[in-house]
Amino acid sequence: MSIPFHVPTITGSESERVAAACRDPSVLQSDGPFSELCADLLRAYLEAENVLFTPSCTAALEIAAMLTVGPGDEVIVPSFTFVTSVSCFTNLGAKPVFCDIREDTLNIDESKISDLVTSRTKAIVAVHYGGISCEMDEIKRIAKDRDIAVVEDAAQALSGSYKNRALGSIGDVACFSFHSTKNYHCGEGGALVIDKPELLARAEIHREKGTNRRAFIRGQIDKYTWVDRGSSYVPSELNMAFLSCQLEHIESVKRKRKSLFDRYVNKLQTLEDAGSIRLPIIPQDCRPSYHLFYMLLQDSASRDKLLEHLQNKGIGATFHYVPLHTSPVGSKLHDGRPLHVTERIHNRLLRLPLYPNLRNEDIDLICREVYDFFGQVP
Ligand SMILES: *Cc1c(COP(=O)(O)O)cnc(C)c1O
Repeated sequence: MSIPFHVPTITGSESERVAAACRDPSVLQSDGPFSELCADLLRAYLEAENVLFTPSCTAALEIAAMLTVGPGDEVIVPSFTFVTSVSCFTNLGAKPVFCDIREDTLNIDESKISDLVTSRTKAIVAVHYGGISCEMDEIKRIAKDRDIAVVEDAAQALSGSYKNRALGSIGDVACFSFHSTKNYHCGEGGALVIDKPELLARAEIHREKGTNRRAFIRGQIDKYTWVDRGSSYVPSELNMAFLSCQLEHIESVKRKRKSLFDRYVNKLQTLEDAGSIRLPIIPQDCRPSYHLFYMLLQDSASRDKLLEHLQNKGIGATFHYVPLHTSPVGSKLHDGRPLHVTERIHNRLLRLPLYPNLRNEDIDLICREVYDFFGQVP
């Protein structure tokens, strides 16, 4: 590929900080100084009290699921999302109730949630697609009346906001990803942000293999033992050393991504005005994290042809989610309701490269190829 779809971000100081960690192996104990630094940075950025780092967002979601559901419970989830937003719950015997998405943001359609709530509903999963916020006030209102947990899947959303509140600080529990494809990363990593103290205490146990080791380390109990469900969900301190550099640059990375995103929008506006494509829609109350840049084509055949055209030119364009309610596992768990917007939109979506290393010239070249596909000159 002459322009790859993704290049992981490096802010500059990672290799030095990881080397420093290697020079003094005593700092490599889990939840050590680099985890502390990451926690301070993330807490300050989110204005949130409680942050627990994990080896992945999937691990954070699994803890979130342990906090909220048991066998036979129901969880309202979008179908247009990553597998583990939903499998974390089904792994525990909970049932996914798939909700359709909004035409504009491709996020869960809050106006369709109430009809799906039953006495078994224990959680609503708000996935902020591309780092553009779900309609959190309405989702929280629905959940509050009925004592349902709001879980933010904020994997793509660090640095985004909703009504001036940081995404990942709004729900009862939020999960971030620091996978190398995300805006801020350490190869593989994640974090759990928790609002309520009683949930935090349980999350610490799930994260420490089902033991009360954290309370022991704090000197709150004499010895630690097996007290609840759990697994090995503590990340390596080497990853935390790397991540701390990334979390020192949240705003500058976001600014860079925004300028590239805005350049795409400017360049492609004429094609949208002509009705050939639809560009991302950002609601008034939302400031995105600019995690991805997508466009919607008129139909799936033209999407596939444009993908092929760009790939032939060495441009790493790609598609996105296969709706989970149509997947081999999801279709068995789905009640069969049509999800009209999800079904109509998913195969018209095409993503273009977006990462800080991308140059303005790269975007100009990509956009020229898109215009070329439509037989037009930019
Ligand atoms: C990337 C992603 C995940 C999984 O993150 P990992 O850190 O790879 O486990 C979950 N949900 C969404 C929406 C994602 O984009």
